[in-house]
Amino acid sequence: MVNRTEAEKLIKELREKINYHNRRYYVYDDPVISDAEYDEMLRELIELESQFPDLITPDSPTQRVGGEPLEAFEKVIHSTPMLSLANAFNEAELKEFDRRVKSVVGNQVEYVVELKIDGLAVSLIYENGIFTRGATRGDGRVGEDITQNLKTIKSLPLSLNKVKNIEIPYIEVRGEAYIPKEPFEHLNQKRKEAGQPIFANPRNAAAGSLRQLDPKVAASRPLDIFLYGIGALEGYKIDTHWQGLQLLKDLGFKVNPHSEVKHTIEEVIDFCESYAEKRENLPYDIDGIVVKVNSLQQQSRLGATSKSPRWAIAYKFPAERKTTVIRDIIVRVGRTGVLTPTALLEPVRIAGSTVSKATLHNEDYIKEKDIRIGDTVVVQKAGDVIPEVVKVVFEKRTGNERKFEMPKVCPECGSEVVRPKGDAAARCTGIACPAQIRRGLEHFVSRDAMGIEGMGPAIVAQLLENGLIKDPADLYYLKFKQLVKLERMAEKSAENLLKAIEESKNRPLSRLIYGLGIPFIGSRAAQILAAHFKDLDELMEASFDDLVQIPEIGSKMAESIIIFFRQDQTKRIISKLKNAGVNTESEQVKKGPKPLKGLKFVITGSFEKYTRSEIKELIEKMGGRVSGSVSKNTDYVVVGENPGSKLDKARELGIKTINLEELLKMFTEGNDSGRIQ
Ligand code: NAD
Repeated sequence: MVNRTEAEKLIKELREKINYHNRRYYVYDDPVISDAEYDEMLRELIELESQFPDLITPDSPTQRVGGEPLEAFEKVIHSTPMLSLANAFNEAELKEFDRRVKSVVGNQVEYVVELKIDGLAVSLIYENGIFTRGATRGDGRVGEDITQNLKTIKSLPLSLNKVKNIEIPYIEVRGEAYIPKEPFEHLNQKRKEAGQPIFANPRNAAAGSLRQLDPKVAASRPLDIFLYGIGALEGYKIDTHWQGLQLLKDLGFKVNPHSEVKHTIEEVIDFCESYAEKRENLPYDIDGIVVKVNSLQQQSRLGATSKSPRWAIAYKFPAERKTTVIRDIIVRVGRTGVLTPTALLEPVRIAGSTVSKATLHNEDYIKEKDIRIGDTVVVQKAGDVIPEVVKVVFEKRTGNERKFEMPKVCPECGSEVVRPKGDAAARCTGIACPAQIRRGLEHFVSRDAMGIEGMGPAIVAQLLENGLIKDPADLYYLKFKQLVKLERMAEKSAENLLKAIEESKNRPLSRLIYGLGIPFIGSRAAQILAAHFKDLDELMEASFDDLVQIPEIGSKMAESIIIFFRQDQTKRIISKLKNAGVNTESEQVKKGPKPLKGLKFVITGSFEKYTRSEIKELIEKMGGRVSGSVSKNTDYVVVGENPGSKLDKARELGIKTINLEELLKMFTEGNDSGRIQ
């Protein structure tokens, strides 16, 4: 047992760590440790707090539900809080739960056991049978309005059946949105082929898909939903949770078929244990079994803590671990230059899949655990996150194992590798490192960034090898005749690729910001930045203070943005992107007036106050389009000093010519062609 001073210190450390992992998990959908490790930390904290109850504070992670709503979404206040669940990790803890329940409500207790689907908790509101609002759990009290995204889930009814001829005036239903295993594998396979980062597990993929600002992203993901609870109900009466599940089915909701009523805790335990094996064969991931007191009256007598109801508990399966041998340790250079050591393993089957690689995170992790090449190690896969090496089986050491050394130079470009003080990551310093450039380009074209369909890692590699591109902006200057010369590139594919590149010019600003690959700026941060600034220029000009004032943009991110946009190389790329017509405006601005919408312009000659590309930018901002040559589809030719042959062509075709002043007037007064759509 620790003394009070030690406990205080430990509690502080644990809270900091848990809060960090909560953010990674709930806010960014990007956990960096396994659930089992997280659960262990939380348990340690619970234990310490129970020894020193006066050290419990209301903001301790043991007292509150994990997530916090993102600024980018409308907020939703839950009329009944959406809580977390207390955990049981073994038989003894389930029995302890049974004892606690019976001490409050007496010995006559029935339990409903349900599969704990590993997805994202959502609340759905139906008014007079119509789906009107869907939200995430958020911090349990305030969630995010994700109605549009939820509507893309095909198994979610948009209207409800009548039950016993009654139309229920108001019901709030709770459930879990998830991605089944097979479609998840497919999704990741496709992402891999397209050179996009793969999702760590179906849970993060589901949560990430539903918390996108663009419902098209959710629509493209294989989401499904099971409903398992009622938060509020008017105009209909039920007495038990089981009746609630039947009502949900009758209303037309998808309810998991494996739920059962149990009369003793022994029956509950048998059910839980049986699923430790059966879960492998289910088409979706579960991370445990939820045990709920059936009677609603008993539920209300038991009540809830601020974090979880006292009438339910989640039995958690142990994370699966196997031993295997490390054949080698390789280093991968990421797009930001971070070197990540990865263990190549003797293949081993864990939690339903064959594992042949496991992350070793960084140099410190390897040192701390004394992991060596040739070691027999315990590998863990919690059915979810990337497999990891948990520990070395030291008894199996033969003396032939080799220590791993982080390379001093980048394995891809030979540049110096540095590890800044206080940073766990070693980085390649080469600005022209081909691995970084390649990964950066793969990232730029990936689906969540500019989404250039058909542009996978193989094509990116060919374009680089043939010297056709050096940076992302070069993609927008590719010509048909360059593409068809590439190996295995048919005319049709070259055409499609050019079309896809052209289409990507109109992606929302957030996707461009994300695609630029600014260190520490993931897709969510990019959305926040795009919502805050009117265009890329404004973001580029923002100061450190401007940036850190934006909710969720921390100092590390702000610094990274400043450094990124300060580089001449970045400025050059951005100006090339703009000249190619890539959208750099925020959606908010685009919602503004568009006096030139639908009009096509050609610019000729020179102007005193503006360059031609500035005029082009202005026209595009106002909704017009600019092309390089005059045709019968041209609406106006803007004429400056010393115009070229374009003016002759305009006269020949009878196209209206205007000077700069007249153009600027059109920005405020619209146009006189009557063609505004
Ligand atoms: P929980 O495990 O405490 O359980 C509550 C949730 O279970 C509900 O919100 C609901 O979404 C879900 N659920 C699924 N099926 C259900 C059913 N039939 N009935 C009722 N609820 C059902 O969830 P939590 O509070 O979101 O988080 C804790 C979990 O998240 C733990 O498993 C923890 O390991 C993990 N976590 C991991 C990290 C990490 O860094 N790896 C960080 C934070 C949390």
